[in-house]
Amino acid sequence: MKNLALHWKILIGMALGIIFALLMINFDWGKDFVVEFIKPFGTIFINSLKLIAVPLILASLIKGISDLKDISKLSQMGGRTIVTYIITTIIAVTIGLTIVNIVKPGETISEETRAELVESYSTAADAKIAAAAEQKKAGKLQALVDLVPSNIFKAASDNGNMLQVIFFAIFFGIGLILIPEEKAKPAKAFFDSFNEVILKLIDLIMLAAPYGVFALLAALVVESPSADLFKALAWYAICVLLGLGLMMIIYSFIVYIFTKRTPKFFFEGIAPAQLLAFSTSSSAATLPVTMERVEEHMGVEEEVTSFVLPIGATINMDGTSLYQAVAAVFIAQAFGMNLGIEAQLAIIVTATLASIGSAAVPGAGMVMLVIVLGQAGIPEAGLALIFAIDRPLDMCRTVVNVTGDAAVSMLVAKSVDKLGEPKIKNWDDNYKK
Ligand code: ASP
Repeated sequence: MKNLALHWKILIGMALGIIFALLMINFDWGKDFVVEFIKPFGTIFINSLKLIAVPLILASLIKGISDLKDISKLSQMGGRTIVTYIITTIIAVTIGLTIVNIVKPGETISEETRAELVESYSTAADAKIAAAAEQKKAGKLQALVDLVPSNIFKAASDNGNMLQVIFFAIFFGIGLILIPEEKAKPAKAFFDSFNEVILKLIDLIMLAAPYGVFALLAALVVESPSADLFKALAWYAICVLLGLGLMMIIYSFIVYIFTKRTPKFFFEGIAPAQLLAFSTSSSAATLPVTMERVEEHMGVEEEVTSFVLPIGATINMDGTSLYQAVAAVFIAQAFGMNLGIEAQLAIIVTATLASIGSAAVPGAGMVMLVIVLGQAGIPEAGLALIFAIDRPLDMCRTVVNVTGDAAVSMLVAKSVDKLGEPKIKNWDDNYKK
């Protein structure tokens, strides 16, 4: 067991968590026991990951940018990152739309099931609709205004303000490039060492990952709705999963074409981050591990990972955009609406933007889906239809979100000549020390 690779340990933790929960639900007190005594350990695990996200972004981004030495490299890398992110997102939405139009899962839902779903989940759906209304209230340029914090300590004290922290770190890094090297040295040395400490903390947290995912999955299983509802939504779920699976193939293909790194190399490198994304449903919580894996196990230099990955975790959500497209058309089909080509093209635009605006936390994609529905004139109440199955799909789309960020960081690294050999070739080398 000691020498087992980390991803196997995490997988075993997940499987045991599910089995344990399935056993516990047979007892009257089982569910309460899991919720009261097991779930908190999952929450502690997620908190510990979130705890280091802001310090990690600050330290690694400041160090990464200042290592670039020259600002033109930054704008070159920035441009390529954003363009590649947008292209992969558009590919994802298009795949989602194609599948949902071919399979037409919404037509498999009977009137009766539809009414039943709307009734059982309308309150839960209303909460998401209200959250989306809050977002819509803001002005057109609010997202731009929100980018610049008025107080860095305030920004850094809220995990929802990642983009503000990123902005400050880039700004600070630029300042470091522009002052004489002599003067920049102590600040750089400080962030360098700070960064090393944070990376070590990630290793320590990952030692607890198998236990953390055990607790997370056990709690999820005891709290999940009945299997009957899952069956009614099976075709919809199959469409989302098929699209997500295709995205994985596309990533490994593009990575191979552009960087000559094999799919085996790619997936072995990113696997622990994928498993965490699946267990936590949050790209933000997974970010520290994604950064560590891409840098140390996939050979992308820190200048690139520190820039591309935190931005990706917040704005690049291919899995989420694909899901939003499938869900929107599915709901329209279930309500007997026929969406024309124009409406579908508009969905490509709104789902791309909505995924950029989705927070990297569980269930955020669903809030932004309300906006996609609103734009396309699809009844927002339809959200209730997909509620029952949202969490498992959220887990899967988060895996794709994280994998997409890793793939793009390899492409960008290759294009600026910053892709080398992995520092750590063996699975667990850094976790064993
Ligand atoms: N949970 C997703 C993420 O963190 C966002 C979403 O689609 O809900 O990447």
